[in-house]
Amino acid sequence: MRERNEFAECGPSPRGPLATWPLFALVGWLSAACLILPNAPALARGPNVVVIFADDLGYGDLGCYGHPTIRTPHLDRMAAEGVRLTQFYSASSVCTPSRAALLTGRLPIRSGMCSDQRRVLFPNSGGGLPASEITIAAALRDRGYATACIGKWHLGHLPPFLPTRHGFDQYFGIPYSNDMDRVNDAPAGREAFWNPEVRYWNVPLMRDEEIIERPADQTTITRRYTEEAVGFIRKNRERPFFLYLPHSLPHVPLFRSAEFADKSARGLYGDVIEEIDWSVGQVLETLRELELDQQTIVWFTSDNGPWLSFDSHGGSAGLLREGKGMTWDGGMRVPGIAWWPGTIPAGRTELGLATTMDILPTSIRMAGGELPTDRVLDGHDLTGLLRGEAPSPRAEVLFYRGTRLMAIRKGPWKAHFVTQGSYVGNTQPQVHDPPLLFQLDVDPSEKWNVAERYPEVIAELKAAAESHQAAVEPVPSQLEIPLAGR
Ligand code: MG
Repeated sequence: MRERNEFAECGPSPRGPLATWPLFALVGWLSAACLILPNAPALARGPNVVVIFADDLGYGDLGCYGHPTIRTPHLDRMAAEGVRLTQFYSASSVCTPSRAALLTGRLPIRSGMCSDQRRVLFPNSGGGLPASEITIAAALRDRGYATACIGKWHLGHLPPFLPTRHGFDQYFGIPYSNDMDRVNDAPAGREAFWNPEVRYWNVPLMRDEEIIERPADQTTITRRYTEEAVGFIRKNRERPFFLYLPHSLPHVPLFRSAEFADKSARGLYGDVIEEIDWSVGQVLETLRELELDQQTIVWFTSDNGPWLSFDSHGGSAGLLREGKGMTWDGGMRVPGIAWWPGTIPAGRTELGLATTMDILPTSIRMAGGELPTDRVLDGHDLTGLLRGEAPSPRAEVLFYRGTRLMAIRKGPWKAHFVTQGSYVGNTQPQVHDPPLLFQLDVDPSEKWNVAERYPEVIAELKAAAESHQAAVEPVPSQLEIPLAGR
């Protein structure tokens, strides 16, 4: 029977046989269950949660976000049936910190998953996501969910940091970026990327905690992730599940399977996106076929903006300024689509502020759980926003580069205290006093600095940044721990 899922707090809805119970008996039973079993799996089924996370896919790379030649019919349909967020941000402009933030609902500076020395983890890194962090997977598994990570991890490749140690029942994927472990006889510099071959990068493919293939055959990796994801959904159709599906692509080097070769007018990069779009279609079609679509919330987003310096092998931030690695909006504003037929109203474009960090509290609350109280969460519960019943609870977005707060957004205003990097070459930090100020609702491309006209806005944003910084407790960076030091 198809049922519209509600956000369960602690008990089942009185349907079917339960509907014949006397009301007092039902209330008594529910109360007793909640008192006796506070940590038991959710009694009523919370929604399944699926997070599809692309790597380095830009704000402008999907048809439904305005790309003129990349065809993304499945993502376009997903957006048409759900909500398309136009002011949705990742928590970092590079991989590792962004992934840590998504999975923990916290700024990476709170978990030590950022650094001023190394921007991401490397194969010679000895650190990873600390065991003390609570991931979406761990929180939902506590509520009876089956959990799987299928794709690129990049939160520590040593055993203590793998997905299987962070709440995931199973893992299939590569432990860090697909351009790492480059072999010595690969073509030098960027030559290897322009005509990539699998053998140039000795990246391992892992199942749980074992390496099963090396180098990973990246030409078939999107298809294989998809098959694993569909298999996981089928296997767990009778119980709630959390599927985290972080694709390795379109991070360079670009690979796609034979079925998608030379199909896109956008070239190789377009082929890669169109295969990911196919993959999204497979996941959604499986949910429909199993009649789980009305019991499942699916997210699609990206870890950071496009890697613009890779020319046609990098994506597009659309009308946003700059891309990956930078705290201009093109580095951190990403597509954000949420889909849950019957619960999220179809066809809405949402302008409210939201971030990937909001997925953790939203998922836990939808599953009927309580948010952890022993730590600071930077995410907000977006349930009301997604249902179209409330404005976004988020007032601010913070833009970090490593441990440095570079910029802050409050409402339509964004102040840059420091800028660094440009895909055309500038890499030195530039301090701005007064900060640069942009009114993003009017000027999403961050073209017109209006600082002189709005000193009171500058003062307010400065005060918000200072009060945030005063409350952040520094923790040792995990990204600076060398492999040899362990
Ligand atoms: Mg990335």
